[in-house]
Amino acid sequence: MTDTTLTPESLEYRTEVKQLLDILAHSLYTDREIFLRELISNASDALHRVQFEMLTNANVVDPDRELAIWIRPDPQAKTLTITDSGIGMNRDELVENLGTIAHSGARAFLQNANADKQALAEIIGQFGVGFYSVFMVAQEVTVTSRSYRPEDRAWRWRSRGDSSFTLEPADQEERGTTIEIRLKEDATEFAQTWRLEQIIKKHSDYVSFPIYLIQPGS
Ligand code: ADP
Ligand code: MG
Repeated sequence: MTDTTLTPESLEYRTEVKQLLDILAHSLYTDREIFLRELISNASDALHRVQFEMLTNANVVDPDRELAIWIRPDPQAKTLTITDSGIGMNRDELVENLGTIAHSGARAFLQNANADKQALAEIIGQFGVGFYSVFMVAQEVTVTSRSYRPEDRAWRWRSRGDSSFTLEPADQEERGTTIEIRLKEDATEFAQTWRLEQIIKKHSDYVSFPIYLIQPGS
């Protein structure tokens, strides 16, 4: 079976996601680094959740896989890849979690953004605007995820941060989530190891799982 021959299914974002993406696309240059804090925080949440699940459930994919976060910059390809061995997402969870806004931080952000359009850029840093903040630096984002549930296969979600995203089955046996970011031409600093080190120290020092920053070419 070759999954790659299937045409990816295209789905529209919910309206509030489109609003948020529109705001983030026009955000200030200086606020952009927080996207990494948001992605690392999601990875850390996913790791805590699978750790908790494994306390009572022996039937989990990859029970012995190290609980960690791997960050791989590629300055040549202008990509940044963030992998976690957390709880993962199946197809429905990808649609629900990355296609709508269910969480409070982004809702509060949108309310504030509507109230004071001038202050948009300033408040971006104050709210957990979550996953979608990746579109401040990304031309395209590909999320490949395999849930901890043995009966679920891997799926690939992809978007350019416009009004829609696509979904297709993926070949990934390992549990967890990989987020590949194709960086905007003016955001290639986020494929530089020193810059990532700086941001991780500044915003993600509290994370209780190992964060491995992989040297390009290794
Ligand atoms: P929040 O973290 O406040 O819920 P986000 O926009 O950051 O909001 O993420 C939305 C949801 O997407 C999360 O609640 C989670 O269910 C899911 N998600 C995001 N990243 C991951 C990940 N790496 N692994 C598993 N689930 C994730
Ligand atoms: Mg989050």
